[in-house]
Amino acid sequence: KEMTSAPEQELLCIFGTGDFGRSLGQRLLQSGYRVVYGSRRPHSCGPLPQGAQVMSHTAAAAQSASLVFVCIHREHYDFLETLAPELKGKVLVDVSNNLKKNLYPEANAEYLQRLIPGAHVVKAFNTLSAWALQNGPSDASRQVYLCGNSAEAKEAVSEVATKLGLTVLDRGSLTAARELEDFPLQLFPEWRLPLRLAASLAAAFFFYLLIRDVVYAYAEEGKDISFRIMVSLANKVFPIVSLIMLALCYLPGVIAAFLQLYRGTKYKRFPDWLDRWMLCRKQLGLLALAFASLHVLYTLIIPIRYYVRFKIAESTISKIKENKTSVFDTTLAWRADSYYSMGILGYALYVLLGITSLPSVSNALSWREFSFIQSKLGYLTLFFCTLHTYLYGGSRFLSPSTYKWYTPPGYILSLVVPSVVLVLKLLIILPCVDRTLTRIRRGWERTDPEDDTKKSLLT
Ligand code: NAP
Repeated sequence: KEMTSAPEQELLCIFGTGDFGRSLGQRLLQSGYRVVYGSRRPHSCGPLPQGAQVMSHTAAAAQSASLVFVCIHREHYDFLETLAPELKGKVLVDVSNNLKKNLYPEANAEYLQRLIPGAHVVKAFNTLSAWALQNGPSDASRQVYLCGNSAEAKEAVSEVATKLGLTVLDRGSLTAARELEDFPLQLFPEWRLPLRLAASLAAAFFFYLLIRDVVYAYAEEGKDISFRIMVSLANKVFPIVSLIMLALCYLPGVIAAFLQLYRGTKYKRFPDWLDRWMLCRKQLGLLALAFASLHVLYTLIIPIRYYVRFKIAESTISKIKENKTSVFDTTLAWRADSYYSMGILGYALYVLLGITSLPSVSNALSWREFSFIQSKLGYLTLFFCTLHTYLYGGSRFLSPSTYKWYTPPGYILSLVVPSVVLVLKLLIILPCVDRTLTRIRRGWERTDPEDDTKKSLLT
């Protein structure tokens, strides 16, 4: 007999019948809860999920629900103070977000706790969107961060979240609320620095090359070659930025190694800038790959360019007219082929690095496999691409006509950082240096000789 009577479903309360309140209520009802809304206008508040009750805030708060979701914007919280007696002892879930960081001196959830000291405020659900709640959890919106001062209150909220099919991540006490409220305001935070760097490098090299190529030709030779901006100039800027960014991926690792060697220990924190730099290496690398891909595309269209076809036809015709033939230069052939070959190999490895940085791929790799690809093959990529650029320059490095207006060509400038990184890396893998570095990374510390003498004086 007892089996037939369904157990009483738990009642939950939602304040606010807006987008978020409605989506949340719908999900709660689907998950088998009963829902009661508290609204300013219980009789004219628009369509609500079927099965939900609506009443005034006071009446809703007086119901048996022990959990109240406050789905109201922070700006309108003040009226809640009058409900303090009804809300005493209840768990209040603050789902609110702000439009900007640091808009208010305290976190919204802390403000709510101050208004109703007798309730247990839990910050949760604010990183989900009303849309995601309505459509059911997808990978990106499966996580619910929560924080609060009462362990039981948090437990009650996580139980509900788990029942909705969400994953709960406890972030500790209510002081973490501010951090949780900042989450939804973030816009690709780890991409910001690499993107700025890429944009600045691209702009700087574009203007540098514009002056050296187009403005120089106009000023010194009276020639208008401004059409070269679209392809020739772009195809110089992209590989330059790509190579520098790739080298910048590996530079912090080398700096870190030298810092550890210099300090004789790994137990000292790296400076903040180095930490931040190390954390955005993946984004630096992916942007570098994007620029390398542009370089590949721009290079592939060279034979079909009007300018190139014109030049080739013109030189052929003039040779025919003058009845001249040119001699095949084997050295040049070797150089050009090696140059292309290095570029192709470098790009292939580049793509491999990019693929292994995808979460689905990197999650399938062990730490050793991942670091083998990202470090060993990464340096090989840098080596191929650097060699590709050196071969491009060839013997032109030494010719004075290369240095228009006493400025070096862009590709020479682009070789500085990668060459430094490769030389430093070479130093690090010398057996004697490598041995010390490995010992340091296993926890060995170099003791200061002065300390030793002090110790022996004391004993
Ligand atoms: P909304 O559509 O504007 O709804 C807010 C609700 O608050 C209104 O429907 C109204 O309900 C109530 N309200 C408005 N002014 C009020 C006042 N002066 N006094 C008392 N109640 C008032 O906003 P929302 O998108 O649902 O967002 C609600 C909360 O959820 C906000 O704190 C927001 O930051 C948070 N949130 C929203 C989303 C989202 O995707 N929308 C995502 C995460 C977090 P009644 O008319 O029934 O009283």
